[in-house]
Amino acid sequence: TEKVQEPVNGDSQPIAFKAETRQLLDILIHSLYTEREIFLRELISNASDALTRVDFEMLTNRDVLDPDAELAVRITVDEEQDTITISDTGIGMTEAELITNLGTIAQSGARDFLAVAKESIKQESGQSNQTDLSLTDLIGQFGVGFYSAFMVAEWVRVVSRSYRLDEKAASWYCTGADTFTVQPAEKEARGTDVIIKLKEDAQDYAKEHRLRSIIRRHSDFIPFPIYVGDDQQQVNRQTAIWRQSPREVEEQDYVDFYKQLTLDYEPPMTHAHMVVDAPVQMYALLYVAGSPERSMFSVRREDGLKLFARKVLIQEYNKDLLPEYLGFVQGVVDSEDLPLNVSRESVQSNRVMNQLKKLITAKVFDTLSEMAEKEPEKYVQFWEGYSRQLKQGVAMEQLNPEPLHPLLRFHTTAKPDEWSSLDEYVERMKENQEDIYYIMGDDEHSLMY
Ligand code: ADP
Repeated sequence: TEKVQEPVNGDSQPIAFKAETRQLLDILIHSLYTEREIFLRELISNASDALTRVDFEMLTNRDVLDPDAELAVRITVDEEQDTITISDTGIGMTEAELITNLGTIAQSGARDFLAVAKESIKQESGQSNQTDLSLTDLIGQFGVGFYSAFMVAEWVRVVSRSYRLDEKAASWYCTGADTFTVQPAEKEARGTDVIIKLKEDAQDYAKEHRLRSIIRRHSDFIPFPIYVGDDQQQVNRQTAIWRQSPREVEEQDYVDFYKQLTLDYEPPMTHAHMVVDAPVQMYALLYVAGSPERSMFSVRREDGLKLFARKVLIQEYNKDLLPEYLGFVQGVVDSEDLPLNVSRESVQSNRVMNQLKKLITAKVFDTLSEMAEKEPEKYVQFWEGYSRQLKQGVAMEQLNPEPLHPLLRFHTTAKPDEWSSLDEYVERMKENQEDIYYIMGDDEHSLMY
């Protein structure tokens, strides 16, 4: 393992952060004192992304540095110096990438966090002492990213080496002030080390047992092993729970996984676990969120399912596996039958993809029908949240709307305050009645049904 060195500035010129980044750093450093432990979740999540990216690269390119290095995250602590080092064997960064990636706010939750945080600070300093969203509530829910390290850091040093064979190692250093420096560094192995010198009031993070418990709480399902300390014992469960037999998975595991996937703090309304061998091999874990509005704190920025081919993440938001109107379904799909050299572009036209789509769509219908039948009260709650999407489905599935019919509910003249299904309606129709009477909802005037 590499020795942690006090950073030296050498000849490198300080580079100024953009105003937005400065504001974010300022809030992270000066306004947040609780929930600070999530800095570890954020850095591990970056490490995991970097590992996923190099894994993906190596599907088609073996000309990378250290092609046989174990894909893992290693965390070490120096209790004497109060430093923590989070190392990964991921894709790494060149000097230029350190400047762009760590010099500006990327497309992460950080920007949204900043917007809400500013608003919340404004309110707190105003006359009202009632804030709906306190900063400390926010921090746990946003993906604030790399800069969250500054909640606990006196300084942060990043030493990185890109997977590209012709690139040299470089380091980035910052004390949380308005500038950072970048310079060449010594590092033989591929990947990134993030070295954090803990602030005086954050030194209890320099304890391995503390770090282990934070990892179990926030990063249990990270798909690469996370090792803490020198005993090389893996801390996270790392299970791809969708690859387990549904019999082995506890209800609570499904909820925990959903929460780690989305950072939603409400449990999901329902879930479905698929393990299929024919006509294609696939695993899927599908969720319907408790509320149709994606919470502003969700880390899922778009509709779409996370798509893995043989455990390697190949698309974060795949929109081709479900019809558009079922875009509210979230989750993970993993197939052994997708070719390993799929590029993100060719995923769409793949024959296996069409089979997967059929299976997944049918499963969603089955799950909802079953809820309607066995848990009618819960189904009403679902219908009140998602009726617009299902009605849109009826309009879109002109050729084959039948699977949707048992899922529809309407207020009728006989029972204006209840939701009736078509079957219930037909049952109470008068002998010679030829028409169906229902009460139009606000969103229905454009619906031809
Ligand atoms: P986000 O991860 O949401 O994009 P961050 O602020 O956390 O935002 O990180 C900014 C960027 O820095 C990332 O998008 C990534 O390109 C790069 N980065 C951060 N950590 C690592 C790492 N451990 N290995 C490689 N690249 C990283």
